[in-house]
Amino acid sequence: MFGLGIYLADLSSKSNQYSKCQQHESTSCKVCEKKLFLCRALIGDPYFTKVAMRYAKEPPINKDSVIALSRKDVPDSAVEYREYIFYDKDVVYPEYVISYQLK
Ligand SMILES: [Zn+2]
Repeated sequence: MFGLGIYLADLSSKSNQYSKCQQHESTSCKVCEKKLFLCRALIGDPYFTKVAMRYAKEPPINKDSVIALSRKDVPDSAVEYREYIFYDKDVVYPEYVISYQLK
């Protein structure tokens, strides 16, 4: 929705929506262990948006990243929960792999 970037979330439940178990290819599997990355990222001077930027390959000029505001932030936002989009892989560091199982 925000182009070719690395998408991070501040809610693990949001990230879980994109984490499929390998055996059943399910995001809601309660049998298999799933994994998420806990990342450090350099947000810099972000560009805040409530609209999609489908073809973005970089943040707007003089900005370092994009923060898609949630509907809690602005009711007519394109996304339900905040998303953090980075277009430079060198500013995102996957520090931990978290293994978990849904109950
Ligand atoms: Zn499974």
